[in-house]
Amino acid sequence: MNIDQGDTLEYDVLVIGGGPTGSTAGRFSARHNAKTLVIEKRQEIGSPVRCGEGISLSWLEELEIKDISPWVRRYIRGARIYSPSGHVLEIIEDIAGDEVGSVIERDMFDKDMARLAAIEGADFMVKTAATGLLKENGKVVGVKAKQMGKEFNIMADIVIGADGFESQVGRWAGIYEAIKPKDIMTCFQYRMTGIDVDPDFTHFYMGTRAPGGYAWIFPKDEVTANVGLGVQLSRLNGEVTPKEYLDQFIAGHKGLRNGEAIDMVAGAVSVTHPPERTVADGILLVGDASRVVDPITGGGIVNGLKQAKIAGEFAAKAVSEGKTDVEYLKKYEKLWRHRLEDKLWRNYMAKEKAMLLDDVMYDKIIDALSDMDLRKVRVETILEGVRKKYPELIKEFEDMM
Ligand SMILES: Cc1cc2nc3c(=O)[nH]c(=O)nc-3n(C[C@H](O)[C@H](O)[C@H](O)COP(=O)(O)OP(=O)(O)OC[C@H]3O[C@@H](n4cnc5c(N)ncnc54)[C@H](O)[C@@H]3O)c2cc1C
Repeated sequence: MNIDQGDTLEYDVLVIGGGPTGSTAGRFSARHNAKTLVIEKRQEIGSPVRCGEGISLSWLEELEIKDISPWVRRYIRGARIYSPSGHVLEIIEDIAGDEVGSVIERDMFDKDMARLAAIEGADFMVKTAATGLLKENGKVVGVKAKQMGKEFNIMADIVIGADGFESQVGRWAGIYEAIKPKDIMTCFQYRMTGIDVDPDFTHFYMGTRAPGGYAWIFPKDEVTANVGLGVQLSRLNGEVTPKEYLDQFIAGHKGLRNGEAIDMVAGAVSVTHPPERTVADGILLVGDASRVVDPITGGGIVNGLKQAKIAGEFAAKAVSEGKTDVEYLKKYEKLWRHRLEDKLWRNYMAKEKAMLLDDVMYDKIIDALSDMDLRKVRVETILEGVRKKYPELIKEFEDMM
């Protein structure tokens, strides 16, 4: 699409951000006959990758994804969770359900989500940033945008903010809620090759080697994996950086220490509770911009996609009915909350409790669980298992039971 300085484009639905949730919202809005545009500030959708690339595959039917071959890199049999002193809890595929499944090529994945949106008729513009909201009588009616030095306006009946963790769109619309440092995980990750870990499992390491978070190894092939670590922002005292925690973890791991880092990424995820608000007049938020990352795992893709489908369908309906005021858009909130909110809250509360555990407690809990026949990774099951072996530990968690 050729753009000139000062142009004005008109769309029914404008999506800001061409990540997986933006493309998916665009896909479902275009499918339901809304004239849809997705703008992405980077020059290439999906790149550079800032992700551990671990996702389940339990959502494919819900999102109507038929072909995963473009982006699944490796199927995973299960997860191993390691306590500080080395107890191992193995959770195999049929038990873990939502939480393990595959390691993907995230850049290919994001491009595939965009492809599916384009097939439904959504337009895309890359290297195009939203730089501000256009409002009339307080209602969002479009955005100011910039593409390679040219400034222009995009008018839309509904704007969808899918601009990720650092969402500016939410701030501009006054929807933004500050996240507490304890609810932000700061992450550092290497792609490592020449390593020796079981490539059929994802590996999670708990305890003070990653204060308030965990270290992960997500295998991409027999000798290559994403090796990363997240630390609770409030536990960073300026003395040890997430990179240094990760370097220490690698130096202490005999399967990793002789490997080579071939790329590195830093980033943050919110592990907060569901937000108070995700809509305002003429605008709604999806994905990381709306804080639907799982508070325990820090994984945000699957929740974001489920929510984005709801957002896209809803936006098209709202446009067709000519109802884009905040009161009407609150119905979108009701829909996504109905689908996701219970689990988000439950996992948030579990995360808050997990933050209280020291290394000794992690050892006892993982030891207790490794004896159990886990049919479901549910908070209740976990607590019951721990109660049997270490009743003294369960005091902290009584309210959750
Ligand atoms: C280190 C790390 C590891 C992670 N590992 C995992 C994992 O293993 N599994 C998992 O499920 N999740 C993981 N996550 C979280 C996951 O990456 C996010 O939940 C996911 O990317 C959310 O998708 P999104 O579309 O909402 O946002 P994003 O993927 O962040 O996409 C937002 C897009 O908006 C664009 N944008 C921003 N501002 C503008 C603007 N003004 N104009 C136009 N475009 C704009 C950005 O360039 C970006 O492309 C990880 C996160 C980090 C930081």
